[in-house]
Amino acid sequence: MTNGFSLQRSEEFFRKAEKVIPGGVNSPVRAFGAVGGTPPFISSAKGSKIYDVDGNEYIDYVCSWGPLILGHAHPVVVAAIKDAAEKGSSFGAPTENEFLLAEKIVEAVPSIEKVRLVSSGTEATMSAVRLVRAATGRDKILKFTGCYHGHADSFLVQAGSGALTLGEPSSPGVPIGVTADTLVAPYNDLDSLDKLLSDNKGEVAAIIVEPVAANMGCVPPKEGFLEGLRERCDLNGTMLIFDEVITGFRVAFGGAQELYDVMPDITTLGKIIGGGLPVGAYGGKAELMDMIAPVGSVYQAGTLSGNPLATSAGLAVLNELSKPGTYEKLEQRSSDLELGLIDAIETVKVDATVQRVGSLLCLYFTDKPIKKLEDIPDSVSGRYKRYFHSMLDSGIYLAPSAYEAMFISLAHSSEDIEVTIKKSVFALEKSR
Ligand SMILES: *Cc1c(COP(=O)(O)O)cnc(C)c1O
Repeated sequence: MTNGFSLQRSEEFFRKAEKVIPGGVNSPVRAFGAVGGTPPFISSAKGSKIYDVDGNEYIDYVCSWGPLILGHAHPVVVAAIKDAAEKGSSFGAPTENEFLLAEKIVEAVPSIEKVRLVSSGTEATMSAVRLVRAATGRDKILKFTGCYHGHADSFLVQAGSGALTLGEPSSPGVPIGVTADTLVAPYNDLDSLDKLLSDNKGEVAAIIVEPVAANMGCVPPKEGFLEGLRERCDLNGTMLIFDEVITGFRVAFGGAQELYDVMPDITTLGKIIGGGLPVGAYGGKAELMDMIAPVGSVYQAGTLSGNPLATSAGLAVLNELSKPGTYEKLEQRSSDLELGLIDAIETVKVDATVQRVGSLLCLYFTDKPIKKLEDIPDSVSGRYKRYFHSMLDSGIYLAPSAYEAMFISLAHSSEDIEVTIKKSVFALEKSR
């Protein structure tokens, strides 16, 4: 480990990348826009560690933004991918692993009877919205601020200024016509939701929610929130979509719906079920899923959907996860990290709060609990930036944004956790 700490080679690579790729990256948050500096270019990874092209070693808490619950390059997953590659990487015809992975998902996720595989989380949520619109004959959907559902037009909507009732595009290029059909409410706030539902009576096809909000750090659902959504959906003939792209197979084997015992009509999945390869999925009751082509008339397709490499990797991960004791071990490590960070905060005496659900954890630089996006003060960003760079310099790789969760994997050892806590004490000092 040579963390001296130089990123010379990464800087050179970044300059080359910027010339031919917008911002030098293929997904915006990788560019370090929120924290400044140059992103390390990663050359390899193993277990809990990633290595950059300058030879620096880091304990990784991004884990590819969620998929790598077993850690990097897990031998069983690597073997499955190699084996699949040797047999051919894509056929555009049915394969055994597709139904084996589907069976695993159906077995694990309580509300899913049938599931369709796609190639990303974005594709899963986008397709789920088409399906609920077809099933209800309604156009409007309702989402919550701070929840992320991929980059399809319908979701790139923020609450409009003044009236909560009309959404505004959160990106140029999103037609106003599309956003008119997306309603936005604050997370964990059933009163705002009730107002939106009564203003749009009989028009809302679905409510889509991250059952644990993991794209604004880590915000658990308030007691009664998910149950409240279910109740309101039933009353209004509205469908409930749980976007479990992050929480699926992470907060429990059966996802957040198992953990909180609230059943959605449709579940979207991604990340973990692809074991680090491009996958997404959406599923629900058989009758509803049979509305999709070729059985029904709701069109949705994909050249690489159910790709052999991805399904092999996904199956290998789910098989590992279904072994006894995995979630207990993950909980233990995650709880150790949480308690250690809380101790560190008390030692250093900074205003900070730790929120955690299972192996999703966020350290917010504020002393108040976060229940919705609007609770996060702007001041967190500057303090996180200092904390982040101090951690990076000392070999801990965190998400380059104050609004992201830490992902703990089964590859994180108790020594990794101890080192992380120790470095945090110093970084918390720096955060002031
Ligand atoms: C990552 C994510 C998506 C989008 O998945 P991609 O594979 O990046 O398209 C959708 N929903 C949630 C909750 C996510 O975290």
